[in-house]
Amino acid sequence: MTAGLRDLYQEVIFDHYRNPRNRGALAGASHDAEGHNPLCGDNVKVHVRVEGGVVRDVSFEGEGCAISTASASLMTEALKGRPLEEIAPLVEQFHAMVTETGGAAHPSLGKLDVLAGVREFPARVKCATLAWHTLRAALEHGHGRVSTE
Ligand code: ZN
Repeated sequence: MTAGLRDLYQEVIFDHYRNPRNRGALAGASHDAEGHNPLCGDNVKVHVRVEGGVVRDVSFEGEGCAISTASASLMTEALKGRPLEEIAPLVEQFHAMVTETGGAAHPSLGKLDVLAGVREFPARVKCATLAWHTLRAALEHGHGRVSTE
C-alpha cells in the first residue's frame, strides 16, 4: 500500500467499514433503490423512510469495498432528520467534493469530509459516490436500479 492510499484509508473510513452504521433492512421504507459499481464490484441497496417531507430514517445493505461501505455508512448518518429539499444539494456538494481536483474551496460537509481524499484516486470515486447515486434514484423514482456505467 502506498503512503497516499494509507492517507485515504484513514481511521474513520476503516471504522465505518468495519462497523457500518444503519446497515440492514428498514421497516416501513417509503423509497428503495439498488446500485452497482461494476468497476469495483460494489453493490448497495439504500432504504429511506420519508415522512412529512423529512428523511426520518435511512439504511443500507450490500457488499463493497472499504470506500463504498464507509461512504454509505457516513451518508446514512448525514441524512437522518434532514428535510427532503436539502438532500439534492447535499448529494451535489458531496459529488463535487470527491470529484473536483485542484484544491478548490469546498464548504465543509462535516464528517463526510473524511472522504474528500478520494478525489486524488479517480478509480475510487465511483465507490464513494455509489450510495449517493442510489439514494438519488430512490428519492426521485420511489425505487430503482442504478449502475455507475
Ligand atoms: Zn469499491
